[in-house]
Amino acid sequence: MITILSGGTGTPKLLQGIMELVEPEKFRVIVNTVENSYFSGVYVAADIDTVMYTLAGIINNDTWYGIKDDTFITHETLKEIKCPETLKIGDRDRAIKIQKTLLMEQYSLSRVVDIQRKSLGIESQIIPMSNGKSNITIETNQGKMDFHKFLVEKQGMPEVIDIKYDPVSPTPGLIELIEDSDMIIIGPSNPITSIGPIINLKGIYKALKKTYVVGISPIIADAPVSGPAAKFMHALGHDVSCLGVAKMYANFLDKFIIDRKDNAYKNKIERLIPEVVVTNTNMNNIGEKKSLARTTLGEIL
Ligand code: GDP
Repeated sequence: MITILSGGTGTPKLLQGIMELVEPEKFRVIVNTVENSYFSGVYVAADIDTVMYTLAGIINNDTWYGIKDDTFITHETLKEIKCPETLKIGDRDRAIKIQKTLLMEQYSLSRVVDIQRKSLGIESQIIPMSNGKSNITIETNQGKMDFHKFLVEKQGMPEVIDIKYDPVSPTPGLIELIEDSDMIIIGPSNPITSIGPIINLKGIYKALKKTYVVGISPIIADAPVSGPAAKFMHALGHDVSCLGVAKMYANFLDKFIIDRKDNAYKNKIERLIPEVVVTNTNMNNIGEKKSLARTTLGEIL
């Protein structure tokens, strides 16, 4: 069994490649929940929905958020009645989020996600990292704010001083899922706000050390492909480079994949991680996604 740790943009791209090569029941995805929150009365589990829509083949590939070809009648109507919403939620996407909110009155998040992925015809398991209430605070030069205020309302512009998230418990059985895996993939996701929260859950670090773990750098040529990873890494004292990411994961990685633009870092990273592979890690089309997935999976294929 292959277990993939994911956020909501970089790793879902890789998942599209993995889906072409591995049977759905042979891999599962553990997803970050630290950015989950309520918007317009509905529970938004952004990274989970992105992974779910990716595996269902309905993701909006342009934004890595929401469902492709969705309509925005409710969103526009809310604006007209002077009740604008922070997130632009599509109509079909909202229906899924309403169902999630209603089911959560009765069941845990992990149970709800399992019900929803099955109803979308997804055979791979999707596991939220925690059923606990997530809360992330970004401390900036404009004061403390939650993740979405920083990213959506403030467009990621404020200077970041610190990032904190409340400790939550791992979803029951999560440690066992990691330990029972033939391979763990740490996808190319934000190391601070997507992967960090998963690996910092109690017991995960130890479990990862016992397993075969492959990581892919989300940083190419000293910059993230998209999103605020550079600001977050810098704020927490990490070098914004694949070497900086390697140092964060070095204790449990068996293999690390970096971009060919970063070949100059290979020797230094080899002192930290047993195997370093240099290849194209920029996933602009299905060919590149499949090729990176093949390199990641290696001999397990
Ligand atoms: P979020 O939850 O939306 O922030 O998404 P993730 O954490 O999953 O993804 C954000 C990270 O994905 C950023 O640090 C990007 O650099 C990385 N990323 C996005 N696309 C690519 C890509 O094509 N290749 C690589 N290597 N990283 C990528």
